[in-house]
Amino acid sequence: YTPSEPPKIHRLDESVVNRIAAGEVIQRPVSAIKELVENSLDAHSTSINVVVKDGGLKLIQVSDDGHGIRREDLPILCERHTTSKLTNYEDLQSIKSMGFRGEALASMTYVGHVTVTTITPGKLHGYRQANNFFFFFLHFNFKSNNLMEYLGFVIALVFFFFFFRVSYRDGVMEDEPKPCAAVKGTQIMVENLFYNMIARRKTFQNSADDYSKIVDLLSRFAIHHINVSFSCRKHGASRADVHSVTTSSRLDSIRSVYGVSVALNLMKIEVPDSDPSSSVFNMDGLISNSNYVAKKTTMVLFINDRLVECTALKRAIEIVYAATLPKASKPFIYMSIVLPPEHVDVNVHPTKREVSLLNQEFIINTIQSAVESKLRNSNEARTFQEQP
Ligand code: ADP
Ligand code: MG
Repeated sequence: YTPSEPPKIHRLDESVVNRIAAGEVIQRPVSAIKELVENSLDAHSTSINVVVKDGGLKLIQVSDDGHGIRREDLPILCERHTTSKLTNYEDLQSIKSMGFRGEALASMTYVGHVTVTTITPGKLHGYRQANNFFFFFLHFNFKSNNLMEYLGFVIALVFFFFFFRVSYRDGVMEDEPKPCAAVKGTQIMVENLFYNMIARRKTFQNSADDYSKIVDLLSRFAIHHINVSFSCRKHGASRADVHSVTTSSRLDSIRSVYGVSVALNLMKIEVPDSDPSSSVFNMDGLISNSNYVAKKTTMVLFINDRLVECTALKRAIEIVYAATLPKASKPFIYMSIVLPPEHVDVNVHPTKREVSLLNQEFIINTIQSAVESKLRNSNEARTFQEQP
């Protein structure tokens, strides 16, 4: 092959670009659920419920009781780069919300079918709302004999809230929002995930393990956000696989999510900020003691309330456990690290799973020695107790 001419460069269609990007953000069913749950957290929800069918391929449904979405925002809700959270690039330095790019919902509409049901507080005296009432009457008297829609209308009248349901495909709202019955908050449903990505759909069809990843994800959220109740169940199942109630104690929460035997063997660990004036970081967590036995490390790490992974920190802690404990048990670690927002770069990974930290080495070393001394102390106390 000897090219006579260089190949021509052309601009990709926007829909192609968007679908490629979507495949990076929504890598698997659990990534869609992470984005949806983070949206619910950003909406100040106190209750978040997840339902999954076929490991998320058939159906993902996340319902919350958060602040809902404005009626007038629905047309652009699932466009790429539409968000209520970020305005200027500089704000990224101090961002507190989990989301900021306005890409998650859009991505889902490029790889699945998205339906949103949300509540909008009504402004009774506004002109728009008067108009809405008129529209409602027309709608219900002449067009609809659907009981659910009728109920929605009655609820809306009584509480002056309006509920809408609307579907999206490829970033675009398919129809005008339809009034409907719902409960407070927002419900987002993603159906037929990866319907247009044959290879990826096949990968997940053949593996049943995404549901366990989803349960694992919800468990992690549940023990960090103890003022939010979470549930996760398979569609049609009467029993939830994750079910947490709001509590004031992290240990209680771990007990209900990970079980008594884990909770029994945890020790509190803390690293206060060494110098509050030029704050570097502080850490607070729970780590397993020498009685805990497991084949695999469980490391639940939140940095500035963001669920992340940090392989270097995990390794550092595993090394301490291996060196300090006689039994070759892997630890259970829950840690919440707080550091100045400008010390964290949250924009290094499409799934936001990894973050990059300023002073990472210092932070890891400090935590490592804190774990080591905690572990030694408890080990010594134990051997002391056990002596006759
Ligand atoms: P981002 O979270 O980065 O802003 P998303 O695509 O995830 O982008 O969501 C777009 C916008 O939709 C959010 O900024 C938010 O205003 C709104 N939104 C999404 N999910 C919810 C929800 N569960 N409750 C309230 N608003 C939501
Ligand atoms: Mg989001």
